[in-house]
Amino acid sequence: MSEIPPHEASKPERRFEGVAVSPGIARGNAFVKGEVFVEPDSFDLEEGATGAEIARFEDALAETRRQIEVLQKQVAAAAGGRDASIFDAHLLVLEDRSVLDEVTAAVRDRRLNIESAFYRTMSRYIESIRAIDDPYLRERVIDIEDVMQRVLRNLGSAAPAEYSARHEHVLVAHVLTPSDTAAMDREQVLGFATEVGSYTAHTAIIARSLGLPAVVGLHGFCDQVHTGDNMLLDGYNGLAILNPSPETLAEYDRLAEEKDQVARRLDELRDSDAVTGDGRAITLSANIEFAHEAGMIEQSGARGIGLYRTEFFYLHDGALPGEDQQAKNYSRVARGVDPDGVIIRTMDIGGDKLPEDAEEAGENPFLGWRGIRVSLGRKGLFKTQLRAILRASGVAKVRVMFPMVSTLDEVRRAKELLAECADELRAEGVPFDEALEVGVMVEVPSAALVADQIAQEVDFFSVGTNDLIQYTMAVDRVNERVADLYQPLNPAVIRLLNMTVEAGHAAGIWVGVCGEMAADILMTPLLVGLGIDEFSVGAPRVPAVKHAVRKLSYATCKTLAEDALGDVDPARVLGRCRELALAHYPELLT
Ligand code: PEP
Ligand code: MG
Repeated sequence: MSEIPPHEASKPERRFEGVAVSPGIARGNAFVKGEVFVEPDSFDLEEGATGAEIARFEDALAETRRQIEVLQKQVAAAAGGRDASIFDAHLLVLEDRSVLDEVTAAVRDRRLNIESAFYRTMSRYIESIRAIDDPYLRERVIDIEDVMQRVLRNLGSAAPAEYSARHEHVLVAHVLTPSDTAAMDREQVLGFATEVGSYTAHTAIIARSLGLPAVVGLHGFCDQVHTGDNMLLDGYNGLAILNPSPETLAEYDRLAEEKDQVARRLDELRDSDAVTGDGRAITLSANIEFAHEAGMIEQSGARGIGLYRTEFFYLHDGALPGEDQQAKNYSRVARGVDPDGVIIRTMDIGGDKLPEDAEEAGENPFLGWRGIRVSLGRKGLFKTQLRAILRASGVAKVRVMFPMVSTLDEVRRAKELLAECADELRAEGVPFDEALEVGVMVEVPSAALVADQIAQEVDFFSVGTNDLIQYTMAVDRVNERVADLYQPLNPAVIRLLNMTVEAGHAAGIWVGVCGEMAADILMTPLLVGLGIDEFSVGAPRVPAVKHAVRKLSYATCKTLAEDALGDVDPARVLGRCRELALAHYPELLT
């Protein structure tokens, strides 16, 4: 967290309301993604005014140099010399005489105002560097643009940008894709604020998994904030606060302390099991998107990984890595959570998880080429992944699970390919788990409706409520216009959940929930009451869900679930859930 420089302290505080999608508080300087330069006005100077104009430029350069040196010292103190050396490149830009002379010549000879002369010269300079096919030089463009922006601000009346994206910052953007979030530099991004987004979009899911505070739905915010502005992001209440006052900062210090206290108390449950007061044991596992998150699992007190979303491999690099690289990755994750194990979900490409140029999903990607449909259509790619998963199963406990299943036939075809891979590995003498458990995500209503048939083919079900709600209600999960229809407690959704549990249990297999509903402690009474056996949630949510389960009684939850199944009103069901939650774990709801 950085101190507010004195000249900023006098600016009035401004609050913007959005939707809280990932809890936590982030304080720092804003970095507005893609903040574009507005070309300065261009005009002819009066005769005799060029000297003063050039002096103004020299002052702005000196001020910029001073700011960068201050930053360099701050970063050196906080992060060490290597990081601070980034600013050497910035300072070099300010000393490039050939460029600076061109600027002053344009003022002196053509009587162009300095802002315009500087902007035009720098733009040409940047374009010529961009044209060179050298990644190192292209990278430098960011530094040059940073300096350019600073100088322009120092020439004008706008407050200077004190920080750039090379430092810790609160990221502000119109929108962030899941791949933007996947590629985010966690060392520097303290949290993010976007103008559009939704709670179950994968961008938000990743933020929660990573414990990164996030607020979305801040309409028009990008026009109100500049890179370098001091801001505070409240991921609990969905607020973005510019120039927070000393009173606000003190208030948030108190809130952070309260939340820390609760977290410390929950931390004591790390080694306890998720068992209700009257003895019903729930398996509580964690969702991950990246292999490196596996390190957080033990710390969170989860029992293994209930959902490893492997498509983020693809989103990172634009292509799935080869079999060896995948096998290595899966084995590493599995070893980290052995013997509880990891459920590896085969790639769920499609929906909102598409590389930007992918057109193959069709006009309506959520109803298009997605999940198992892609895998069955790209058998080579799928078999590479299945072989890698099987190989990891020879190293530590692994289960496999197929996403976006809508028919029994898809499950059979996927299993056939898995059996083919197993035959190949057997023939090659490569060890794997001959009893590898196979599961299906129940997230399409058609799968829930024939869950009794699918249950005959698999070892477990994991309900993907994010999609199950979306497809049942015909509500795009990332479209905020229809967000009020995205109803986890609609009777249609509760019935499908119940059908899935009953079908699974009748066939003797366990049923989990890995969608975001499992992480919502207001939903815990209903899900426990419906007989869900496993909850898989983002690692930071594990302690709260465990606490909730331990405080509840299965008998009470069962009564609530039975009533909910007969209820027509989602709001009333939510009210009942809230009552139980408040009665048993009020400390989590403040
Ligand atoms: C779900 O749909 O609930 C789920 C867990 O999968 P994803 O969010 O990746 O679609
Ligand atoms: Mg899904």
